[in-house]
Amino acid sequence: MITTKAELENIVTLTDSEKAWFDDPSSLPLLISDHLAGLMCHEGIRRQFVPSVEEKDEAESLDPLAELEHSVSSRLIHRYGHRVALLTTDRCFSYCRHCFRRRFTGLDSGPISDSEIERAADYLEHHGEVYEVLLTGGDMFTLSDDRLERLLSALRRKRSDLVLRLCTRAPVSYPERFSDELMAIMEKHNEEGPMVLMCQFNHPDELSAESLDAVRKFTRLGIPAFNQSVLLRGVNDDADTLERLCVALLRNRIKPYYLFQCDLVRGTAHFRVSVDRGLEIEAELRRRLSGLAMPQYTIDLPEGGGKVILTENHLIGREDGQLIFTTVDGQERRYPEK
Ligand code: SF4
Repeated sequence: MITTKAELENIVTLTDSEKAWFDDPSSLPLLISDHLAGLMCHEGIRRQFVPSVEEKDEAESLDPLAELEHSVSSRLIHRYGHRVALLTTDRCFSYCRHCFRRRFTGLDSGPISDSEIERAADYLEHHGEVYEVLLTGGDMFTLSDDRLERLLSALRRKRSDLVLRLCTRAPVSYPERFSDELMAIMEKHNEEGPMVLMCQFNHPDELSAESLDAVRKFTRLGIPAFNQSVLLRGVNDDADTLERLCVALLRNRIKPYYLFQCDLVRGTAHFRVSVDRGLEIEAELRRRLSGLAMPQYTIDLPEGGGKVILTENHLIGREDGQLIFTTVDGQERRYPEK
């Protein structure tokens, strides 16, 4: 694991703005796994994990999605009626410089305790309207096998019907984590109730053989895999890169699910692409990709406004009882209103 400037300089030549980060580091620590260190020659990966002084722009909020306001405990966020997010740990195998949960990630909460697990399970027992739990953080797979077993057992004991979303970047950053012992735990709890793997691949160069093998361990158990990318300036803000990513994901049984507009999180402005540019990319992807390969370009609105899908409006007018549409190629087509 790379945690110091000297270690980082052994594998990359730092730019001036990258060097300057170390004079006054931001709260999100430097941590790059050995696996990712071996991929630093790829610019799209390097930019996601090597810190730069641009993170010191502190104009924006640490909590633009108002997660704190919707927290029912320090670990449980209940923003939408039917699903909750459980912050299982603040640790990750590598810290992404675009992380949207900087208020929590890499600080000092550590792994979820026994009492916090019980409190979360009790809450879910009394909130039958919730049918999905996002196990997130941080990265849930930094928890030990023993703690994961306790967590999953406690949730399944109270609510075997819950859909558990396993939110992780470990296939990208630490694919060796998925040992036979860990997968036996996953198999057991997937047999008790539904699980879904939610990955975050942002660039096709992240799809190493080891990473794909890690995801395959889940799909072989019948746990479907989805991908949530973040639209990142200098990483994947062009249709060619995203087309390659989405097609490769689909070929490897990972459904491209979301393409997120960057949240307005402090220290991440240099990664942000304008919504207008994002819509151009989305329209181009829609021309090139099949429906299965196409992710939903989505923005999580500030102040807890929730997610809305961003897409070009193809319904452009109405005339004589007819709806007027444009095709993805810009041609006009009509369809009766009734
Ligand atoms: S893996 Fe997720 S929680 Fe961890 S730093 Fe990356 S984006 Fe943040």
